[in-house]
Amino acid sequence: MSVETTVAAARTAFNSGITRPHAWRIQQLTAMNRMLREHGDDFADALAADLGKHPTESWLTEIGFLTSEISHVIKHLEGWLAPRRAAVPVALQPAKASTILEPLGVVLVIAPWNYPIQLLLAPVIGALAAGNTVVAKPSEIAPASSAALAHWVPEYLAGALSIVEGGVPETTELLEQRFDHIFYTGNARVGRIVMTAAAQQLTPVTLELGGKSPVYIDETVNMAAAARRIAWGKFMNAGQTCVAPDYVLGTSHALAALAAELPHAIAELYGLDPAHSVAYGRIIHDDAFARIAGMLAGDLAEGTGSVLVSGGSTDAATRYIEPTVLHVDAQAQLMDSEIFGPVLPLVTIGSLAEAITFINARDKPLSLYVFSEDRAVRTQFTEQTSSGALNFGVPVAHLSVPGLPFGGVGESGMGSYHGHHSIETFSHHKAVLEKSLAPDTLALIYPPFGVLKKQLIKRLVAPSKPHSKN
Ligand code: NAD
Repeated sequence: MSVETTVAAARTAFNSGITRPHAWRIQQLTAMNRMLREHGDDFADALAADLGKHPTESWLTEIGFLTSEISHVIKHLEGWLAPRRAAVPVALQPAKASTILEPLGVVLVIAPWNYPIQLLLAPVIGALAAGNTVVAKPSEIAPASSAALAHWVPEYLAGALSIVEGGVPETTELLEQRFDHIFYTGNARVGRIVMTAAAQQLTPVTLELGGKSPVYIDETVNMAAAARRIAWGKFMNAGQTCVAPDYVLGTSHALAALAAELPHAIAELYGLDPAHSVAYGRIIHDDAFARIAGMLAGDLAEGTGSVLVSGGSTDAATRYIEPTVLHVDAQAQLMDSEIFGPVLPLVTIGSLAEAITFINARDKPLSLYVFSEDRAVRTQFTEQTSSGALNFGVPVAHLSVPGLPFGGVGESGMGSYHGHHSIETFSHHKAVLEKSLAPDTLALIYPPFGVLKKQLIKRLVAPSKPHSKN
């Protein structure tokens, strides 16, 4: 089916009204749940082929993540969709006012390759639950996952979700169609292309982008425990996670203590030779491998002042990059852009204030991770920095709290989703006012205006006196 026909079919399905009833939405979510349970192993095989992901990691971070999200949405959907009453001003009474959430129409989801199943289906859960039909494009860079979605989705979700496989030409063609919302996950360069195309049709967009997510650590924490958490968040999926800790800021003492613990933490996760660990992934393709390995080699070259803490070996043939930790300065190549690979630079700063200035001088991060037992330090990060998410004591895990919005701010994105935030994103918030024609209390404010009406209207619209505290 051509792109145009696919989008037209999604529009016809939406216009037919089938998506409106609560029952249809629950049916689609249940069908997706069944697909994930019956073919979870097929999706895990595809993820292993694309990214070398261990099946357990795939069940945890992709398939299981989705089934949990579905259960959460099914459980709460009715309550989230209930009309929300609004107070009516005296001048309009008697009347009833409420906000109702209505579906937008046809939603386009464009997904990236790093969590290719989760990042395609998670927004689809919200879009279907809100009563939309969806056209979704998986990333061509994860071809096995893309093929698995194209194979199984039509069997379970025909008429609700259509998968369009392909790369730039197909996405470009999709972006020429009219949608009611576009939900894009990926890098900011393509984010700008998506937003420019959306502007032609005045289509609202959600952009889930990336960037460098910093860690700040001080000496108040249990370093061994912090090192384990940081290593887990960083080296999962071989560092190819949008919310992975990108680099660590700390004083020389804090970083020395962390550097002493990180090699043990890495060995606990992946053994002494991660190349032989089935739990450790590979870099997605040769270009990404060359980019990361090139930055690493450049920063480790003589005269740069960088110091290797652990790791550093690479193998182009298998696109293997060992979990690597190194001390660098702020001018290092690794500090120029999002690393998106298993290399963790440690950057020394002189003080907490310097760390906050360092972070605020750069793009607003998707996530910011703070490891400190000092409440005053945590308060300073809360009050003086801006990021999509702010976690204390653990990276990445905010994603699995269904009540929290997931999204960026500034260069890391706009809009958010997960749980009821997805329903808000994929719905129009329609204002509904209901006023009976009798009695016609509005007659009091219609012209002609006499002295009495003037006094009455002044009283109705006059600002109320501020309450005196004495
Ligand atoms: P990618 O290369 O798979 O691209 C994402 C999508 O954009 C794909 O579907 C691709 O087909 C499409 N695309 C690529 N070029 C295009 C073009 N010229 N015109 C139209 N569409 C085009 O994935 P990526 O961008 O390499 O993903 C990695 C980036 O995404 C990182 O920056 C990462 O931080 C970010 N990311 C963010 C999140 C999040 O939830 N915020 C999640 C994962 C990844």
